Amino acid sequence: MPILLGAIADDFTGATDLANTLRKEGMTTVQVIGVPDDSVAEPVAEADAVVVALKSRTAATDIAVAESLAALDWLRAHGAEQIVFKYCSTFDSTANGNIGPVADALMDALGADIAIVCPAFPENGRTIYQGHLFVGSQLLSDSPMKDHPLTPMRDANLLRLMDQQSARGVGLAPLSAVRRGDGALAEAFEANRSAGASYVVVDALEDADLRTIGAACSEHRLITGGSGIALGLPQNFRNSGRLAAAGAVAAPAVDGADVVLAGSCSEATRAQIAWAAENWPTRKLDADQIAAGSPVVEEAMSWADPYLGATPVLIYSSSDPDEVAAVQSRYGRDRAGEMIETAMGEIACRLIANGARRMIVAGGETSGAVVSALGVKALKIGPEIEPGVPWTETLSEPPIALALKSGNFGGPNFFGKALEMLR
Ligand code: ADP
Repeated sequence: MPILLGAIADDFTGATDLANTLRKEGMTTVQVIGVPDDSVAEPVAEADAVVVALKSRTAATDIAVAESLAALDWLRAHGAEQIVFKYCSTFDSTANGNIGPVADALMDALGADIAIVCPAFPENGRTIYQGHLFVGSQLLSDSPMKDHPLTPMRDANLLRLMDQQSARGVGLAPLSAVRRGDGALAEAFEANRSAGASYVVVDALEDADLRTIGAACSEHRLITGGSGIALGLPQNFRNSGRLAAAGAVAAPAVDGADVVLAGSCSEATRAQIAWAAENWPTRKLDADQIAAGSPVVEEAMSWADPYLGATPVLIYSSSDPDEVAAVQSRYGRDRAGEMIETAMGEIACRLIANGARRMIVAGGETSGAVVSALGVKALKIGPEIEPGVPWTETLSEPPIALALKSGNFGGPNFFGKALEMLR
């Protein structure tokens, strides 16, 4: 069956967030890692929606554009009728892009003459009013995003940002138009188009606004925004009889040992590690030993093997901020991160080889390292564990139940709760 909706996300955890929303709204959803090739054609055959996870947010603009276009070609060749370009709900971009240039290239390739710009994500406090993006009660430009190391956001005016980044005209559909309903909003889009705007920044304060916006965009070939805009899109396919009513989604039915790998040093993850230490065998990897070339992976495996299948085990590198700072001062921040991620990737492969089939990974970068070490190319999105984190199942042999958690997500008993869902 051809897919209905195709999405291109500019980072990995953002892709999962979008995929999770589409799944919750009733679409069978697969997340593909990197520009897809023929090896994932069969696994996605059952999907209503495919989300391609790129790493294009801060990549060189020409590479971001080329990868987005390659993803677009693949999605259209597999039937996608509507394309979502997903970026962060804080509009993370550099001075020249990459949101504007990628959106322009997608518009050109699709022959589209109108697309919304709507990063709103009310559940996380991201709202848009009079074209200005707010983070909680602050303008984006007053929020901590103003000091982001890679994408400092010093302007909250989405019209101005889009105007600087793109070659096309930009207009506004204010909240008053959204609140008059999807018919009136579609007219506001048309008025913008007639006035020469290709992009329409749309105000949104609540999920209900996002559903109205989704309905008003049913005929748009391209939609740009955060994961929130996915709330209203599946209903359009249901209205046209191409998508079945939303049903419950089963957790992955995968048997094998339970393992948790944690590389995030965030407060939430450290609380989750403390919870695990009271319930399961846990083992910490020592950054100095990794740096010294000690057989850390071998030793961790000899430790874990007797437990595999009998009890969940946790292997972690996470430390408190003082220890992390000390490790970083000894080896440099990037090298410290990289060597730990490499060790985690090797351990993940060895654990799978020794029978692990249900794996939770804590940390965005750590998840990326594990997924690439395992050679995973596609994930089927399952039920949500906690907001923003679904269970997924790898679409390759052997099937693995994977939960990839961004560091700060989840309550203290997240690991136990996640595994309980598979019982
Ligand atoms: P988060 O989602 O919380 O940002 P990430 O996995 O993205 O988590 O980032 C954590 C980074 O910290 C990774 O690069 C990881 O390898 C690194 N790291 C993990 N443990 C330590 C440690 N003890 N000292 C220094 N760096 C560490």
